[in-house]
Amino acid sequence: MAKTVTRFAPSPTGHLHIGGARTALFAWLLAKNKGGEFVLRIEDTDRQRSEQEYTDAILDSMKWLGMDWVGEPIYQSERFDIYNGYIDQLLAEGKAYWCECTPEEVDAMREKAMQEKRKPKYDGSCREKKLGPGENRVVRFKAPLDGRTSFTDMIKGPISVENAEMDDMILRRSDGSPTYNLAVVVDDHTMGVTDVLRGDDHVNNTPRQILLYQALGWDVPNFGHVPMILGPDKKKLSKRHGALSVMEYEKMGYLPEAVVNYLVRLGWSHGDQEIFSREELFSYFNTDSLGNSPSVFDTKKLDWVNSEYIKAKAPADLVAGLRTFLPEGTEAEDAYLEKIIPLLQPRATNYQEMADMCDFFLMDAQTLSYDMEAVAKVFTPDALEIIKELTARIDADEEYSHDSLEAVCKGFLEEKGLKFKAIGQPVRLALCGKTQSPGGLYELMLVLGKAETIARMNRAVTLA
Ligand code: GLU
Repeated sequence: MAKTVTRFAPSPTGHLHIGGARTALFAWLLAKNKGGEFVLRIEDTDRQRSEQEYTDAILDSMKWLGMDWVGEPIYQSERFDIYNGYIDQLLAEGKAYWCECTPEEVDAMREKAMQEKRKPKYDGSCREKKLGPGENRVVRFKAPLDGRTSFTDMIKGPISVENAEMDDMILRRSDGSPTYNLAVVVDDHTMGVTDVLRGDDHVNNTPRQILLYQALGWDVPNFGHVPMILGPDKKKLSKRHGALSVMEYEKMGYLPEAVVNYLVRLGWSHGDQEIFSREELFSYFNTDSLGNSPSVFDTKKLDWVNSEYIKAKAPADLVAGLRTFLPEGTEAEDAYLEKIIPLLQPRATNYQEMADMCDFFLMDAQTLSYDMEAVAKVFTPDALEIIKELTARIDADEEYSHDSLEAVCKGFLEEKGLKFKAIGQPVRLALCGKTQSPGGLYELMLVLGKAETIARMNRAVTLA
């Protein structure tokens, strides 16, 4: 059996949006699952709207998601000669013809057909005129007038269209440029693509493309059309639903593996499993389990998936990611961040939240900012006395471990006949500058280290 080759063919007219990313992921996973190849094509024939900046951004987003492809991306803008070669071949074989009808005339034909309650289409005026090239002329495909074109969509099942319903589509525009359908068929064939997975906004193009494959004498690939993603209001996902591009999720602090996991599960399933390693995705992915109805984007679910990934990571593997979200100029060493991260992992949804939660760790006793309202409320004379005495005892604790700190604090409370809450809030405020922070007291003390813990407690008693 031929090696499976899948592809992603973005038009570089904007950033990679999550719908496109999901389609690309499905195509990539299909290739991985079959031990095949995934290739890339940049559909930049619309010179006005295509920009290199967007191509670069799309490739960057794909790399961020961890996708790889074989060879260099193919650029359609560099292949006009190839397309024109095949158009000439179709002309020579009588499978295409020159057409001199003006756009206004074609509009009028469509109008007339609609008035007569027929499907609006080009009426074939030039089919038999045997025209040659000429100014303002286009090349049209001589589509079969009867019969049906059928295929079994990998996702939607059997699809069949009357050939009579299809236009004699334009293959070459009057400016000499090839049209989308022609270019895509030539590219998919010459790139050896065996399985085309794409958005279902292209499903109506597929029968036309199949006619072209047949006219060119080529094997027709398998097709699958992925339903779109909807917003929570069940309308097509758009800017008003929030972030649209993959890059925005990167900037918000999501982990690429989590975004991949979430997007793949959006429309694909494997039993009840929610979290998949990359290897599991490679081995389980199949098009049979792709759903045929639109999926609803759910930010809460994405957050949940992201927090599961954060929890499961080794702290060392989150250091570099977290660092990109810390304020510029943060000098914390990797080893210090690695100690802080376990306190953040059970609580944070994304890197941004992790960065926000750990701000107080990154200041020192002198620069730490205190919530003065909390200071006024919590640092009563009794509380200050407790902090002072406890500071001395902690200072005397040679071992300075979780156990020893616990023993010191518990011993102190027992001796004074106090409950834990007598030290809980005051000490947290002294160490963190606020009453809410991640981590238990002993964990905080351990991460800060003895000298810094003592310095913060000493400073705190000067504030009230
Ligand atoms: N360039 C097309 C798009 O971005 C995709 C075409 C295809 O996959 O066949 O919608």
